Amino acid sequence: RTASKSSGNGRVRVIVRVRPAESDEETCVKIIDDKTLSLRSHGTRQYRFDEVLSPAASQGQTFIAAAEDMVESVMRGSNGLLLAYGPTGAGKTFTIFGGESFWDDCLSSRNVQQAGILPRSLERIFETIRRDEENMQYRISLCVFQIYLDQVKDLLTSEKKKLKIREGEQGIFVQDATWRYIASTSEGIALLRDAWCNRVVSKTLTNNVSSRSHVFVKVKVEQRLLGPHAMKQNHRSAVLTFVDLAGSERLSKSGSSGLRLDEAKNINLSLSVLGKCVAALAGGGGGGGEKGGGEKGGDIHVPLRDSKLTRLLSEDLLGETRVILIASISPLQANTEETYSTLNFALRSSKM
Ligand code: ADP
Ligand code: MG
Repeated sequence: RTASKSSGNGRVRVIVRVRPAESDEETCVKIIDDKTLSLRSHGTRQYRFDEVLSPAASQGQTFIAAAEDMVESVMRGSNGLLLAYGPTGAGKTFTIFGGESFWDDCLSSRNVQQAGILPRSLERIFETIRRDEENMQYRISLCVFQIYLDQVKDLLTSEKKKLKIREGEQGIFVQDATWRYIASTSEGIALLRDAWCNRVVSKTLTNNVSSRSHVFVKVKVEQRLLGPHAMKQNHRSAVLTFVDLAGSERLSKSGSSGLRLDEAKNINLSLSVLGKCVAALAGGGGGGGEKGGGEKGGDIHVPLRDSKLTRLLSEDLLGETRVILIASISPLQANTEETYSTLNFALRSSKM
């Protein structure tokens, strides 16, 4: 509630990744340079971000652009949040987790190139640990859960129970979520693969569920200073949160019924609340311009409590956490409208 309104203070780093076109259809996106792209919809409009990654950008380059610094600061005790936003098919899961072949067989060297930001972050964390083993004792743990139909489900267990969101002294958290220690990147990858299997709610829904749920992966880094310098304040911990958001395409409520309608309502609600929060935090509000006046803390209403998604993101959005938004887009003309709305969401986020 006491969010700073100063826009463009750079707390949120915004990266747009343009996926390769899968055919030689007409495109609507043109990359101007490493920070600028233009979109042709009604007329041509230019957008500038912290970084624009072209279809030629590798997974390794994407990790460096998006997450390398964030992983380093997590190792120094600061929290990090990385959100992947965009319509279904634009590359969110590819960017965070990796290509399908990586998960089929992550040990083959060809597939390792397909590894996304998350396995690369784990690798970097364990590299740092190996370099620092003499001075520091580390514990790394993972928690994976999904928000689907406004219900939180633990993905590190096959149990189906719904989890509750609680607020306690340590902040907002998912009650009884499973945290599992990992001692290596490959143990982490094995857990993520199990989680992937647990996210299937029912066979006929597999495809829907993956694009209609928000998936959270939390990586906790606890460290303890060893040796003669170790005093009382020798312990610290930080959490790196990755969120593969539900597809941001507009889901029509009309014509849908039953489960489809519930899904549409829930996604529209959670992503639109997220959009409202971002707009409020960016200082623009819903169209009332940014005014330097009324600086009385509670003046801007940031509706973080209005959805489970934003409740779970609220501390990171309001606090000191480093936030990275990766907006995934497709360059094809057929997707112009979704690309337009994704770029506008990204633009608002960059003003936070
Ligand atoms: P989303 O999670 O946004 O719905 P996906 O990550 O599942 O989209 O991507 C859709 C398909 O496109 C997948 O088969 C994925 O492997 C492929 N894909 C996405 N981005 C890229 C990329 N940058 N390079 C190669 N293939 C990609
Ligand atoms: Mg996906």
